[in-house]
Amino acid sequence: MSKANNPKLQSWLDVPANSDFPIQNIPFGVFKYKNTAPRLCSRIGDQIIDLNKANELGYFSDLEIPRKVFRQPYLNDFMALGKAKTSAVRERISELFNKRGRKWNSREMVDHLCFAADEVKMLLPVKVGDYTDFYSSIEHAKNVGSMFRDPKNALLPNWRHLPVGYHGRASSIVVSGTPIRRPKGQMMPADATKPVYGPCRLLDFELEMAFVIGQPTELGQSVSTDKAEDYIFGLCLFNDWSARDLQKWEYVPLGPFLGKNFASTISPWIITLEALEPFRVAGPRQTPKVLPYLQYAGEKNYDLDLEVSIELPTGENQIISQSNFKYMYWNMCQQLAHHTVNGCNIQVGDMCASGTISGKKRSAYGSMLELSWRGTRPLPMPDGSERKFILDGDTITLRGWGERDGVRIGFGEASGTVLPALE
Ligand code: CA
Repeated sequence: MSKANNPKLQSWLDVPANSDFPIQNIPFGVFKYKNTAPRLCSRIGDQIIDLNKANELGYFSDLEIPRKVFRQPYLNDFMALGKAKTSAVRERISELFNKRGRKWNSREMVDHLCFAADEVKMLLPVKVGDYTDFYSSIEHAKNVGSMFRDPKNALLPNWRHLPVGYHGRASSIVVSGTPIRRPKGQMMPADATKPVYGPCRLLDFELEMAFVIGQPTELGQSVSTDKAEDYIFGLCLFNDWSARDLQKWEYVPLGPFLGKNFASTISPWIITLEALEPFRVAGPRQTPKVLPYLQYAGEKNYDLDLEVSIELPTGENQIISQSNFKYMYWNMCQQLAHHTVNGCNIQVGDMCASGTISGKKRSAYGSMLELSWRGTRPLPMPDGSERKFILDGDTITLRGWGERDGVRIGFGEASGTVLPALE
């Protein structure tokens, strides 16, 4: 395990209780301060650490990283350096801000490197080349299959044999805080005999995690389950906004299209696989046994609590879902092995989302579709109203974190407010 993960480490920077960003996290992101150019950053507590400035001041000089890597609007070039370099940067940040670390000039560091989190603007951290969405939670797949098809045969015959997925749209992936415009499109309402056009009526969120590709492959090459982690740089929260009425009408036979590609919200921080090491757990037993290329050794799931809250236009808040990343039937290594088994190449910055992460209990369902059971069981809201799906003015916020040995490694949040459809 990386030295930076040592639960005993403490930073000389203040870290508020329950912060997602203790010194053991050291996430990576991209920020902007006033009108300056975007640059790479990390975070401890409520302090944003300017990695470009740290590099200019010589704190990374022995790591032999081209200067321009830290002055980019995206993490892509940094991730492409490979884990030997990126982990060394993470370790170095840990040394710099660790109470018992080397004797650095802490005054200079605070003056030149640190910004209060509320003074900066966090940007989309990754230039996403291709985006793939999986469908890997068995509870979610069963719920959706029961509602739309047959509760006795909720899973289609392929589901337990391969991680089902589809190619999504990268252009509409936005960073937390970006407003979401209600999509318009074609629908076939239950009582209608011909399709109608208009603003989506059944707008939904999907609670997901996504992994980011840090190393490319060549066309024709496949990534095995035991090598997959070498290609995964880290993870973020992912809200796969969904227009259920558009989706239902359009999805046969080629799968999701306009019901999904209008927006996806991610959290601004990429949490490295190294930082998530303490949270590894065994995944669910897979039956029947999967084909050899999908078999894996070791613990490939992660025990990370996930939470969705809704903020109403009146300002009142309510948690509407509490799930966990460990429920995933198919793990990330299997997803990547399957994605590349046909020789499909991957590129730095590609993003693969998990699919909606639902648990067994109703309170752990990861979408309004499931929580309100297709609108048949509306959720009571704190202002006396109720929700079957998401209304204009509602804000949906995803949060995620793991906790071990008194250390909480969190993802920050992926939040978006729904605006009315444009005329
Ligand atoms: Ca999805």
